[in-house]
Amino acid sequence: MRVLVVNPGSATLKCGLYQVSGPSVTALWTGVVDRVGTDTAVFRWQSGATSGQTEVIAGDVSAALHQVLDSPGLTDGPDAAGCRVVHGGERFTAPILVDAGVVEAIRALGVLAPLHNPVSADVLQTIQDRLPDRPIVAVFDTAFHRTLPPVARAYALPYTLMEQHGLWRYGFHGIAHRNVMEQLRAHRQACPARLITCHLGNGASVCAQRDGRSVETSMGLTPMEGLMMGTRSGDVDPGLVLHLQRAVGMSSAEVETLLNRESGLRGVSGVSNDLRDLERAAGAGDVRAELAMQMFAYRAAKAIAAHTVALGGVDAITFSGGIGENSATMRARVGELLAFLGVELDAGRNQQDDGARVRRISTDASHVEVYVVRVDENAQVAQETVRLLASSTAEV
Ligand code: ADP
Repeated sequence: MRVLVVNPGSATLKCGLYQVSGPSVTALWTGVVDRVGTDTAVFRWQSGATSGQTEVIAGDVSAALHQVLDSPGLTDGPDAAGCRVVHGGERFTAPILVDAGVVEAIRALGVLAPLHNPVSADVLQTIQDRLPDRPIVAVFDTAFHRTLPPVARAYALPYTLMEQHGLWRYGFHGIAHRNVMEQLRAHRQACPARLITCHLGNGASVCAQRDGRSVETSMGLTPMEGLMMGTRSGDVDPGLVLHLQRAVGMSSAEVETLLNRESGLRGVSGVSNDLRDLERAAGAGDVRAELAMQMFAYRAAKAIAAHTVALGGVDAITFSGGIGENSATMRARVGELLAFLGVELDAGRNQQDDGARVRRISTDASHVEVYVVRVDENAQVAQETVRLLASSTAEV
């Protein structure tokens, strides 16, 4: 089956056309539009050995999608479409076949994910308009964490208030955490019983998995909780938010911008949210860039260590995401901080990237296996789309 995958961000759009045959997923075509909503939005695509790039004028992500879908072969090619949706709330705990009611429910969940869900709802509507006779499946980033036990899912707030407003720790990056686990399971021919997946990109989160099921994760009601990220602060004292409003005089919108877009690696370094820029700056003696990287590693290691509580130890740790997959230095920093858990990285294996999707970077003697896994969220969405369609056909 050929599946069109659409992965919308707040200012980016990633798409792909995938051939799914059993467990194998092959990319036939992939495309990305960056900096949507600016004068410099660019659409880059690749199909086999052929690639191209064009400027696009798109005010928002669904306008960009309309233009992407004009690419030859994209609208008559797919048998189905799958779309990544960030927040499924309490209602969507598994992939679902999209109809008008589902689109509106996803839009309504914009209360919990204002930057993402309204965009997803618009994108789903665009796909419906352009592929009216094809099944469309929504795959949720929160769904993998539906197995969090109550002790991990609740905040220490009045329980009735949490029930009334759905104030739970939903967790995010579930498509990525699940894809990493499934790739590792295929590679080792067994899933580690106690696995911690560490996804380090612009957004970053950690997930504790017992036998491949999420039992704890670092993000919560929103994707702002947990690790230090590219531009997000991660954990702060909730009292700090009140202080910024009361004593510093910031509005709630200003605090949101500060914590979401001006903090993290960017805020501490004052240089950039891109780790490559920080590595260069620190190499040239920039003290804040070095501090930002130390904090990033320290907070990631602290979160990994905390997640061992959920599992009673750890058998394997994975690194994924732009930083986790590409920065041997950051992996080494995190690994060193976790030596007390029996983590021992092999310096050579950590440095050498042979291009494999899954590669072990711990020594043979390490008590904990450590891997780098090239995550593929789009392939996961394609796979889950086909699984849902196969099961719903079987039920009919
Ligand atoms: P997103 O969460 O937006 O999908 P990515 O997973 O693409 O983000 O990760 C982006 C991060 O990965 C940036 O901080 C970038 O600096 C970092 N990154 C990408 N390639 C490298 C590299 N070769 N070395 C170090 N960091 C890298």
